[in-house]
This record gives sequence, structure tokens and C-alpha cells, in this order.
Amino acid sequence: MAVTPSGLDYKSLTPALVGGARTGWHPGRRPTRPTSEAADALGIYNSTSARAIVHTHSSAAAALSCVVDEVPAVHYYLALLGGRVLVAPYAPFGSAELAVNVNDALGDRAACLLGNHGAVTVGDDLAQAYQRAGHPTGSARSLCGLSTGRQPKCSLDEQLATAAESFARYGQTDPGATASDSTSASGTSSSVSSPPT
Ligand SMILES: [Zn+2]
Repeated sequence: MAVTPSGLDYKSLTPALVGGARTGWHPGRRPTRPTSEAADALGIYNSTSARAIVHTHSSAAAALSCVVDEVPAVHYYLALLGGRVLVAPYAPFGSAELAVNVNDALGDRAACLLGNHGAVTVGDDLAQAYQRAGHPTGSARSLCGLSTGRQPKCSLDEQLATAAESFARYGQTDPGATASDSTSASGTSSSVSSPPT
């Protein structure tokens, strides 16, 4: 798998800094260390059909992960993530324990939160995993926006299956898109994006 390096600012990342890791670390064209959370990614790749992973430290997702075990169904976009977004119990970043916890929380769905930490989304390619990364964060923001201390008026638990059916018919392709446009969107896979830890 290809992974981003550890401890470098996003703005400084280039393709030359991306390395490979599966049977050991093979740095890119420059000698960097892999993301400290490569074990999480490897566990996901080994146990699911994911082809790309995005890991973020979204402040909203991190805040919500401190107070719930599952993201409440307050936004229908959760249907795009498999219906439930569970929170993996806290374990130190880079630990084997965290890799196990993330795998358990993710299951066969497309996202999970990491307790007191952030979020992980997966996809068939990097573009899909990246797009999905906004959905748990958006739901987390919705909840964090409830600063009145009041409970949400309703849960969408019962509506998520219907939303998933609607999403199956939703969207369209750009009739003017060229073959090269679609290639560039899906040409990168097996990557994990991680901020410095
Ligand atoms: Zn992290």
C-alpha cells in the first residue's frame, strides 16, 4: 500500500514523499518515515475490500468521539456510510490495539470514528474515500452545533434505509467529461492520508 509520511505538514507533501508499506517500509524518493497510523490502514486493507483510506483529525469528529459510542442518526448522509458510524475505543495512535479497535468499529461499513482522536473513511478509490470523509464530520458538526444542550428533535434511524435507496438512484455523470477526467479521479488507490502525529 502507498501511505503518506509521518510528521510533515500537509502543505509540504508531494508524490515523492509518499512511500510503500506492506512487508516493511519502502520510502518514496525521499527518506521519510511512514505515517504512525500505517498499522490501522494495513489492518483495514487486509480485512475489507477497501482500496483507499482517508484518516482525519477533524475537530468536530474528534469532539463527538469523546462523548458517544455511535454517531447519532441526525443526518441522512449517514446512509452513504453504511448506516451506522461507530466509535472505536481509544487506544494510543500507532498501537496494535488501535488497529484492532478501528477494524472492529469499521466492519463492512465506510466510516468510523476513533475515540478521542478523529475519523476514518474508506472507498473504492481515493476520490471516494476523500468525499466520504466529509459525511461523518458533517454529522458531527450538526451535533456540535446543538450548543443549546437540547436533544435533537428526532432520530433518522428508521429512515436511513430509505435514504440509501434514494442515493442508489441519485447523481449523474458529466455528459461533457472526457475519459482522462474519469481516469484522473480513480487512478490513485491504496493510500492513507494522515496528519502529523
Ligand atoms: Zn490520527
